[in-house]
Amino acid sequence: MSLAGRHILQASQFDRSDLDQIFAVADQLRPVALRTETVDVLRGAVLANLFFEPSTRTRVSFGAAFARLGGTVLDTTGLQSTSMAKGESLYDTARVVAGYVDVIVLRSPEAGAVEEFARGTQIPVINAGDGPREHPTQALLDVYTIRDERRRNGRDLDGLRITIVGDLKYGRTVHSLMHLLRLYRDVQVTLIAEDSLRMPDEVVQQARAGGVRVVESATFEEGLRDADVVYMTRIQEERFKTPADFSRARGKYRLTRPLFERLCSPSAVIMHPLPRDSRVESRELDDDLTTHPRLAIFRQTDNGVPVRMALFALVLGCEAHLPESRRPARWYRPAAFGPHDAPMLPTEPMRFER
Ligand code: ASP
Repeated sequence: MSLAGRHILQASQFDRSDLDQIFAVADQLRPVALRTETVDVLRGAVLANLFFEPSTRTRVSFGAAFARLGGTVLDTTGLQSTSMAKGESLYDTARVVAGYVDVIVLRSPEAGAVEEFARGTQIPVINAGDGPREHPTQALLDVYTIRDERRRNGRDLDGLRITIVGDLKYGRTVHSLMHLLRLYRDVQVTLIAEDSLRMPDEVVQQARAGGVRVVESATFEEGLRDADVVYMTRIQEERFKTPADFSRARGKYRLTRPLFERLCSPSAVIMHPLPRDSRVESRELDDDLTTHPRLAIFRQTDNGVPVRMALFALVLGCEAHLPESRRPARWYRPAAFGPHDAPMLPTEPMRFER
């Protein structure tokens, strides 16, 4: 089924052909995300980027994706600055905003709120995180990144062994990721969490019903040995009832460079949806891994832009016009985004035209 006009609410709504299509369009858009080319298929279109919970990367990533397709982004952050603080219903807000823009991205602290919001409008609504429940676009960029990392070794997602560690109860990115992993063959997921933060049963059951082998009992060390991908997560402080509960839960599983190098296979990669908690009491992913070539976390964030561009192009039904709108970018860009990155592709020197 075409994605045009559809809401993007949860990862389980996608089938394998949706993912293949999103990733094919994202591949096509990579030169735009890398700033060697421009496209303007969304010139004149407007996005409402509504974030009612803290966010940096997801909000900017959606905004950058829309802007790089030629569209205009209107941002609202924080519930207090909206009419919902005056008691307006989600339905009313949705209907009102739909009269102003072409697509809405919404993050809410409440599970299920994005669905309720979507009922108030016919324009596409994209879930950018609803409380502890789901974060479907993060899962898309995670799977896109795994696909990328494995392709370097001539493999695809089939046969993947992934170890997911940390806050599996409140971590919405891993709930969505579990749903997408069902779309591939021969996948094994090893879950490592302390008892109070285990993956919700219904997510595990759905994954098993979809053919994923889920192992829940491994120790951290065993789980690391097996993995092609180690997916670390932050303990979600904001979801705990008391600071004491959070303090008890954090710092249990910490991936450091010596541990990674001693236990993991030389082809294993490390992922994390970010932000990582760098406070000494938490530090699930040590800073000593920052320069490690197998740390894929910044490749993950970079991939958010082409994946979200692809989603906007498909949801707004303009992907067929992408090839004709491609133009070379004319401004300066560095050879890589960060100090430890490999040079970006394509690698030809920039030509400045005046
Ligand atoms: N950025 C991710 C999210 O919004 C992960 C996190 O916050 O830990 O769910």
